[in-house]
Amino acid sequence: MTDRPFKALIVEEKSKNEFQRFVGKRRISDLPDGELLVKVHYSSLNYKDALSATGNRGVTRKYPHTPGIDAVGVVEKSSHNDFEPEDRVVVTSYDLGMNTPGGFGQYIRVPGAWAVPLPDGLSMDESMVLGTAGFTAGMSVHFIEKEVSPDAGDILVTGATGGVGSIAVALLTKLGYTVTAVSGKPDAADFLTSLGAKTIIGRDAASQGNDQALLKTKWAGVVDTVGGDILAVALKSAKPWSVVTCCGLVASPDLPLNVFPFILRGVKLVGIDSQNCPMPLRKTIWQCFSDQWKLSFPEGFSKEISLEALDENIERILQGGQKGRVIVKLP
Ligand code: NDP
Repeated sequence: MTDRPFKALIVEEKSKNEFQRFVGKRRISDLPDGELLVKVHYSSLNYKDALSATGNRGVTRKYPHTPGIDAVGVVEKSSHNDFEPEDRVVVTSYDLGMNTPGGFGQYIRVPGAWAVPLPDGLSMDESMVLGTAGFTAGMSVHFIEKEVSPDAGDILVTGATGGVGSIAVALLTKLGYTVTAVSGKPDAADFLTSLGAKTIIGRDAASQGNDQALLKTKWAGVVDTVGGDILAVALKSAKPWSVVTCCGLVASPDLPLNVFPFILRGVKLVGIDSQNCPMPLRKTIWQCFSDQWKLSFPEGFSKEISLEALDENIERILQGGQKGRVIVKLP
């Protein structure tokens, strides 16, 4: 049993800084030590997985490697007091899929402290439609909801057709907020409207005005997934005492900004780090998604793919072409 072969996406460094990926075999004995051996049923594709799958050393230092920062499955072996065989667990972030073999393989072995019992109200595939993207959207909305009520004004969501953005649009709408979505996709309107967005603006419009010290106030809250000028402009347009969350960098890791939004309008900028989210908040967010935040997504929001189909989907997410979520069914 301990050395059973299993199927996984393997990323190899062919020659210096040249990477290839293929579906191959790993063995249980290839996995690192850990208290839980989990048979993975589903994983999901996130932007970070695409970086890991293409040799980004900021995400994954050593190759060969199996990416997949998300996994849901059933515990096969446990030496951790909180878990026993047959328990259904969700493991997202920490080091999974970064320098620990991840969910794009049929088995993972991880510390018990990384696992969350799958809440009763969520099926395994539903949990991966959310995955790290949904969890990050949930964290962002959690910090907005604490201080901004739905009648305070519109909430701006950037990178709105992507994984984090689209789930943020759906969740904010469910909670009664009015959402303005920023998208660079000319054909995104139907998709975003079906998730609940009331207004859609283009990326160009959303990044204009950063040469001004401050801009006319518009947003009671912002879920930003892209960084750069779009985040700077959103902060300069944020209403007094609004909450702006920042989780991503697909546009830029830079934030070209002055301090005026903070010192003249009391705008609060909240950093979102889902990877190291403390376990109590982690459990709360998963629990919320299984009951009061339970989302039903429109037809076509997510697609289920095999390990073999990951390749083309990795390319799409890297090019910013992702719409909704991709979940990976392990054989
Ligand atoms: P996706 O690739 O699914 O979505 C990103 C979206 O951003 C795209 O669909 C696109 O949406 C928009 N976009 C793409 N390129 C650009 C660009 N050059 N300028 C402006 N917008 C662009 O990624 P995720 O939603 O999974 O992740 C979003 C970001 O959040 C990533 O940077 C990711 O690394 C980060 N992240 C951070 C986490 C954390 O804990 N801090 C956790 C999870 C993700 P549209 O066409 O609609 O504009």
